[in-house]
Amino acid sequence: MGAITGTFKGFGVTFSHMFKKVVTTDYPFKPPVAAPRYHGRHILNRHPDGLEKCIGCELCAWACPADAIYVEGGDNTEEERFSPGERYASVYQINYARCIFCGLCIEACPTRSLTMSNEYELARDNRQDLIFTKEQLLAPLLSGMEQPPHPMRLGDSEKDYYVGALENPGTSAGAERSPMGPGRYRISEHPGVQFPGADQAAERADKGDGA
Ligand code: SF4
Ligand code: SF4
Repeated sequence: MGAITGTFKGFGVTFSHMFKKVVTTDYPFKPPVAAPRYHGRHILNRHPDGLEKCIGCELCAWACPADAIYVEGGDNTEEERFSPGERYASVYQINYARCIFCGLCIEACPTRSLTMSNEYELARDNRQDLIFTKEQLLAPLLSGMEQPPHPMRLGDSEKDYYVGALENPGTSAGAERSPMGPGRYRISEHPGVQFPGADQAAERADKGDGA
C-alpha cells in the first residue's frame, strides 16, 4: 500500500510541474540580465579625460583574501603621465581562477578606480586566459577620453580630480556608462568604442587560441 502511495506521490510531483512556468533560458543567444549589484568582472575606471583612476597603491591586492590581484606601481612623469598624481599601476592583473567575487578589493580602493561590472561570461578553456591584464580590465575609452599617457586635462593637481568627486558622478565615468547598462559590456557589441584589450582578444581569436 505504501509503495502505491509513494508512486502516486512521485507522479503528482511530475504532473504539477507540467503546468508551471518554464524557466529555461535561451543562453547564449539571450543572456539573462544580472541584478544591478551583481558582482561580476572587474573594471579599472578612468577619469573623464581618459587618465586612469588607479594609483598603483596595492590596497586592493592586500585586501584580497584569495591573493588574486597582482599590482606593480610605477612613477608618473610630466612626459609620460597615466594617472593624476605621483603613481600609477604599471602592471595590474586579476586571476579569475582564484577570485571568489567577494568585493573586498573594491571596498579597499581609495580612488573608486576598481569597481565590479555585471559581466559574468568569464569561462575560459585554459588557466592562462583567466589571468586578466590591465589592458583587459581598463574601462573603454568613451567620448571625450584620450588614451594615456597625456597631461592632466581637468586641473593642475590630483586634488582637482578628486575634490567634489562624490557630488559629480561624471568623474566615475567608465564602463558603467555602457549602453548595455551599468558596467555591462562586450567587445563585439561596441564597434564604435575603442577597447584597449580588443586587439589582444582579436589576435587570440585569429590564432584560435582561447575564448
Ligand atoms: S572580488 Fe574578492 S577574491 Fe576577487 S579579486 Fe576582489 S578581493 Fe579578491
Ligand atoms: S585599483 Fe584601487 S586599490 Fe587597487 S592599486 Fe589601483 S588605486 Fe590602489
